[in-house]
Amino acid sequence: MYQRSQGAQGEKATDPVRPQLALAVAVPGPFRGPLTYGLDGQPSPPPPGSRVRVPLGTRKVLGIALETLPEPADRALKPISECLDPAPLLDPTQLALGRWLAQYYHAPLGEALRLFLPPEARRQEQGTQARAEALRLTAEGSALLTALRAKEMPKSLARAPAQQAALRALDAGPRRRAELLAAGHTAPTLRTLLQKGWLEPCDASVPGAKSSAPKLHPEQAAAVAALTNDLGTFRATLLQGVTGSGKTEVYLQLIEKVLAAGQQVLVLVPEIGLTPQTAQRLAARLSAPVHTLHSSMAPGLRNQRWEAGRSGAPMVLLGTRSSLFAPLPNLGLIVVDEEHDDSYKQQDGVRYSARDVAVKRASLQGCPVVLGSATPALETLENARQGRYGHLRLRHRAGQAQAPTQRFVDLRKHAAPEGFAQPTLDAITETLARGAQALIFLNRRGYAPALRCHACGWLADCDRCDARMTVHRDPARLRCHHCERSQPIPGVCPSCGERSPMPVGQGTQRAESLLHSRFPETPILRLDRDKVRSMARLEAELDAIADTPGALLLGTQMLAKGHHFPRVELVVIVDGDSGLFSADFRAPERLAQLLVQVAGRAGREEAPGTVLIQTHDPEHPLLQAVVTQGYDAFAEAALEERALLGLPPFGPLAMLRAEAPQWPPVERFLSEAKALLLAAPGAQAQSTLGPIRAPMARRSGRFRGQLLLQGTARAPLHRNLAEALPQIDKLPSARQVRWHCDVDPSDTY
Ligand code: ADP
Ligand code: ZN
Ligand code: ZN
Repeated sequence: MYQRSQGAQGEKATDPVRPQLALAVAVPGPFRGPLTYGLDGQPSPPPPGSRVRVPLGTRKVLGIALETLPEPADRALKPISECLDPAPLLDPTQLALGRWLAQYYHAPLGEALRLFLPPEARRQEQGTQARAEALRLTAEGSALLTALRAKEMPKSLARAPAQQAALRALDAGPRRRAELLAAGHTAPTLRTLLQKGWLEPCDASVPGAKSSAPKLHPEQAAAVAALTNDLGTFRATLLQGVTGSGKTEVYLQLIEKVLAAGQQVLVLVPEIGLTPQTAQRLAARLSAPVHTLHSSMAPGLRNQRWEAGRSGAPMVLLGTRSSLFAPLPNLGLIVVDEEHDDSYKQQDGVRYSARDVAVKRASLQGCPVVLGSATPALETLENARQGRYGHLRLRHRAGQAQAPTQRFVDLRKHAAPEGFAQPTLDAITETLARGAQALIFLNRRGYAPALRCHACGWLADCDRCDARMTVHRDPARLRCHHCERSQPIPGVCPSCGERSPMPVGQGTQRAESLLHSRFPETPILRLDRDKVRSMARLEAELDAIADTPGALLLGTQMLAKGHHFPRVELVVIVDGDSGLFSADFRAPERLAQLLVQVAGRAGREEAPGTVLIQTHDPEHPLLQAVVTQGYDAFAEAALEERALLGLPPFGPLAMLRAEAPQWPPVERFLSEAKALLLAAPGAQAQSTLGPIRAPMARRSGRFRGQLLLQGTARAPLHRNLAEALPQIDKLPSARQVRWHCDVDPSDTY
């Protein structure tokens, strides 16, 4: 009987003795493994990877069929209710990767496999309305345009000059919607044309004229040669090169080879905001379609992109971390760009690291994976140093571009009452006078990070979090960035009633108004999460600013990531001190990465750039190492420190976090969990720190606690978790809290 289940995938039922087979089904919920169901009434077992509806308690839920099993003799099984798919939705690679995710991240199997379902099959999308990324003329639209050209003004268009203009704009071929909007065509006009059937949506990847490949410089050529050599087998390689050193060019030439061999390529980028620029660049060069995929897409479009690779046809799928789970049966290469980026770590549900899962996927599909970064994660660097990953370097900037000069502005010598010291303002003035752009980086959105009464010292705190309220303008409100609570700004101090409280410190909105008063003639583009709420808008704004001479770009880390700003010649880091003194062990690494990444925005083309770092502590060893010796020197020192402390990548971590409306249940649960962990095998190879209150002990009205496991090696830590977690699941105290286990946490609070 078991043999039958092995071959169940494509098998037709011929044996009438059906009830002897059972089906393993991954169901949603806290079940670590699959549940077993009967197959009575089914003409044949559903193929592994297809969806089934199954009874669970009093409900019917959607599950994913796994292997068929011999029916247990000792108990009666509930039968599955319905088979939903004639063919599997998850292919064997996806199933294997899902099982690995569940095992490695100690996540419920049902949750891990759900990641692989096409967006529409998950039926819980809340996305935005459908919106095409690009538009083109329909046959009817072209005919109209021809008539228009021949001066045979069609009646329907006679009094619609805006519609005429939009049709003409599409004469040369499809254009991105954002581009059309930026060129002044309005959304209502485009909508009307769509409704009349003269325009139709199409894929933004519709290739235009192909741009040609530059001649590779020797380091690039060596990298492409080495990586080409790996095609067809699994190997992970770190491609380390400063921004502008030509990593993307290396990806492009490698991708073209994979496509030419008839295979598929997955390119991961950390941020939605990076997809349009990268997509455009890839589409302009590659011979196969480039499909982008990210979570803020309308569900229909997203589903279409998700499915694009299922046939195995050569194509590039470019997207954020969830693209990692799309069907790409014919995968020949994975590229993880900006591999060090924090947003590759999923922060809820299955808390996976997209970078690490990408490496696993590549190993399952037998293809190379390239991890690109100017500032590799210390984990990745260590893998490269140990020879587990290849390590290729691009040490020089491509083309004419030179590395920027970095300088400190010592805030002890130069007052900066409004956030900007005089030497900084002078440098901005001088840059603008040359017709170049300056990029001003301030990783704090809002107007000011606090509101204080100068009479009594009262500070506006959030009622629900251990945090300050941020002052916002447009609209003027106090907002908590941790729970999104908001309230009006009090006119007088609620504590002493004496004076009106004043904003303290500087956020991007305040910096914008200051810069505006200093440089009234200069266009300023502010980019932060409050300002840029849609992709189309981000794209349009970036396009608009790229060619504007003498402009200021101001923003949060959105600006630091990967965008090309060819006219930027000055970068200002307004608050170089932030992050130097954080409790988290990764804070120095993050700051070093940020400094290098932001610096990388300057001087991309011919003109060398300057980076100014405003700080109270120019002698800080970390700042010094990064600025004077570069990222490698910093990484060397930081790795040494991690080794001494037994922190990742030398000692693996896992974190149990719990929260509840009161503290005692949190503490009780974590203490009981700790006892179970200590009693389970593997415990002697690790230290268990906690339970302690989280650094932000209360958030959204809930008390938060944590228990940190620091292992000496991965295997015993995982054995310990695998043994103890099923028991922790059953603790009565577990039902009084919300809790999860985070393997390889990206931060320890
Ligand atoms: P990275 O991805 O490392 O930031 P890019 O690949 O984007 O670097 O390259 C930076 C700039 O240099 C781009 O404008 C790119 O077109 C150009 N470039 C890259 N390689 C070459 C080359 N071999 N010759 C000339 N220009 C190049
Ligand atoms: Zn007061
Ligand atoms: Zn709050």
